[in-house]
Amino acid sequence: MKEKYIRHLDEDERSILLDGGTEALFTGKYNDFYLSGVYVCKSCDSPLFYSKSKFKSGCGWPSFDDVIDGAIIKKRDLSFGRIRTEVICGTCEGHLGHVFEGENYTEKNTRYCVNSLSLKFISKEK
Ligand SMILES: [Zn+2]
Repeated sequence: MKEKYIRHLDEDERSILLDGGTEALFTGKYNDFYLSGVYVCKSCDSPLFYSKSKFKSGCGWPSFDDVIDGAIIKKRDLSFGRIRTEVICGTCEGHLGHVFEGENYTEKNTRYCVNSLSLKFISKEK
């Protein structure tokens, strides 16, 4: 993760964005949250996901089936003996979560599984 963004984060946010951790399922503040707006990166404020891409997956973390063009970088993650695709912020390179395909949750058949602690919600109605 890029150095200049780290200092703004608290301890919990660092454990996710910097160290690639995962918040406990069903605990994140955006897990069951469906207002209209945009989700930006917690550390660098880059827009990442629109609320229209958010869907109820029941997996315990905020789930999106699409991402704002060019906002994220995908990386292969071989931890825990599994092959997964990690998603990180394209600007600050903070850890966001993982992306899964082929689960048939939505027409796009993609689930970005993201930690609430990696996100900040900005409401459309200001
Ligand atoms: Zn970022």
